[in-house]
Amino acid sequence: MSTFNRPAARLLLATNNQGKIKEYRRLLRDVPVELVTLADLGITTEVSEEGESLEENARLKAMAYAVEGRMVALADDSGLEVDALGGEPGPMSARYAGEGVSDSDRVNYLLTRLEGVPWEKRSARFRCVIAIAMPEGKVELCSGECRGFIIFEPRGESGFGYDPVFYLPELGKTMAELSMEAKNRVSHRSRAVSQVPRLLERLGGEPAGL
Ligand code: IMP
Repeated sequence: MSTFNRPAARLLLATNNQGKIKEYRRLLRDVPVELVTLADLGITTEVSEEGESLEENARLKAMAYAVEGRMVALADDSGLEVDALGGEPGPMSARYAGEGVSDSDRVNYLLTRLEGVPWEKRSARFRCVIAIAMPEGKVELCSGECRGFIIFEPRGESGFGYDPVFYLPELGKTMAELSMEAKNRVSHRSRAVSQVPRLLERLGGEPAGL
């Protein structure tokens, strides 16, 4: 039996983003793994996201935390890509308005950058890349995306990040106007997570620390 068919195999959820942690707890609830967070292990290291793509950053984070935590680690690098801004902020999504700023500062900065851009040109996508790494160095990646438009004013209180300005035409709502269940039915993260069981299966084996 592979490690991940055993109930209670442990998986390190390698993020400090509380919004992501909440979503992953729900999204992974049917996957037979016990989720461990960086806080549970007392890991406070910040892995610098110096890669040029979501893929590179997800890989860097998963590998670093798998080694430090000595267990299989899942890291997510995600971001917003706005067509009218040539794909920005992309991998810079978290630092778009500078270091240490709030979600609403980032949203306001994005809206400033899009001033004067008409509705039909405000198309965008959220993309999520998940990397799962073993402490001995094996890594697998998968990704998911969700398309929408950047609305003119923030709407809604749920979710996190750019959710209040990401409008889903088929639902007539922003991501932040959806319950977590509804967001999880359509989000970039849920689409990536649907491939996680296959990734875990491919990694198989008996990694150290499990
Ligand atoms: P990361 O921690 O480098 O992946 O940063 C991703 C940044 O992109 C976050 O800080 C958010 O601003 C944004 N982001 C990622 N996923 C989402 C999402 O599901 N909704 C809204 N914003 C998101």
